[in-house]
Amino acid sequence: MSWMRRAVLYCNGKFLTLSPSKPTAESVASYGGRIIRVGDRKECIDAFPPGVRFDEVDLQGHVALPGFRDSHLHLLSFGLGLANLSLHGVESIEDLKARVAEASLGVAPGEWIIGRGWDQDLFREGRYPSRFDLDESAPGRPVYLIRACGHVGVASSRALEIAEITENTPDPPDGAIDRDESGQPTGILREAAQSLLFRHVPKPGPETLKGALKAGMRRALEAGLTSVSTNDGQAGFQGTIGLYRDVKQSSGIPLRIYWDVPWDFFPELLETPLRTNCGNEFFKVGAVKLFADGSLGARTAALESSYEDDPGNAGMITASQEELSEQVYKAHAAGMQVAIHAIGDRALRIALGAIANAQARIPSPWRRHRIVHAQVVSPELIREMRRNRIVADIQPRFIDTDMKWAESRLGKARMRYAYAWKTLLRAGIPLAGGSDCPVEPIAPLLGIYAAVTRKNEAGEPEEGWYPEEKLTVEEAIKLFTSGAAFAEFQEDLAGVIEPGKFCDLTVLNQDPLAVAEDDIKDIEVVMTVVGGEVAYSKD
Ligand SMILES: [Zn+2]
Repeated sequence: MSWMRRAVLYCNGKFLTLSPSKPTAESVASYGGRIIRVGDRKECIDAFPPGVRFDEVDLQGHVALPGFRDSHLHLLSFGLGLANLSLHGVESIEDLKARVAEASLGVAPGEWIIGRGWDQDLFREGRYPSRFDLDESAPGRPVYLIRACGHVGVASSRALEIAEITENTPDPPDGAIDRDESGQPTGILREAAQSLLFRHVPKPGPETLKGALKAGMRRALEAGLTSVSTNDGQAGFQGTIGLYRDVKQSSGIPLRIYWDVPWDFFPELLETPLRTNCGNEFFKVGAVKLFADGSLGARTAALESSYEDDPGNAGMITASQEELSEQVYKAHAAGMQVAIHAIGDRALRIALGAIANAQARIPSPWRRHRIVHAQVVSPELIREMRRNRIVADIQPRFIDTDMKWAESRLGKARMRYAYAWKTLLRAGIPLAGGSDCPVEPIAPLLGIYAAVTRKNEAGEPEEGWYPEEKLTVEEAIKLFTSGAAFAEFQEDLAGVIEPGKFCDLTVLNQDPLAVAEDDIKDIEVVMTVVGGEVAYSKD
């Protein structure tokens, strides 16, 4: 009798609801995918309509939080990357070479070997890898290995040859081809120079995309995520919508999707009735995604004055004030939320200027425009953010990598307002938490750990990095629950455990509010519940 609403009792748990009216409970009753009661076992059973048969899921005393949400990641890139060679944590070029050699055994000659995740700062050799390293491990093969940040990569000689990158190829605007003393490319390609090569890597077909998306969605559920705000462009506008529909229909994987639409697709979007928050409970159109600058790691984030360790370089804006204002105004006028990538203070000023301009022309104060990253702010920028009711979309785990060099890039004075999450929170800026996966692992618990401890995964530094910016455990959990729900206009449906909300739960083997903060990173997800159904279970 499939027309009947499913009734499920989640019992014998320790529910941390994040709802002030009832902060903890032992059971939750789910009916038709929504929570109808939070309380003790008997109260919950009594809440089901008379005569309804219910299933029972015993949480065995485990802790259940509102379902985790990730406010900014790239699900399709992540899924596609799972099929590629992973180079995260590789500690030497020798090891990198061994892994390429091994991977080449499983790839037909002539096909590309693609990898991602290396970081030269970890290499014992203390240098960047070169095309000669790759040529040795996979002679004659096209190889391209992307750095962890995604902004730099290293190509083999065959890959350079296919892409026709030679000593005579000029650096593209906003990019660089590293060269040795004799002027020959070393294999290292930076920023826009990477697209000279990407053009020649065969595009994944529809079946590959479907497989990648499924794999990415499953990993998200395993990490305890019930919803993600994703930036995907590989399949085109209609293609992306079709891809998510096909995967949902064929696999039934119940991950909620809020799709931030790349600016390139805006003309196509306008021809449809789809706007922010349109869709069904599993797939909604999100914001229009725009860019204002690059990244701090690559010194392309746009700062008001030079990088401390690179005088004369203040980064680069990827859109002028006029361009960005025009884009934001058009999206705003069409009824869309915007999500603007802005890392440096100059980029942020331009982004906020564009939003203020759109708001002045068409006042719509509750639009919840988002700044993605917001890594370098100032008191003045914070005031502007508050005035325009901006949501800051932050990625706490960035500090795991960035603490190594952020202070040398930015200098002491600017550090006071860099990665300043507590400062933003105190100023009343709504915060949403994300991973930017595949830049960082898909793991909300690692984001929560980073926000709470301000330490890297190795537990350093002892006192935490700029510890005055530590969040409490509850504040950090809210980034990945109610904060992300607010950023996506879902606060009436998700983010806390309350009657009327979706029955979306993340069940953990330990209580993050009870363990030592250093141990938060070791907590495991034992179950993920979406819409009242168990979507992932560890055993
Ligand atoms: Zn991103």
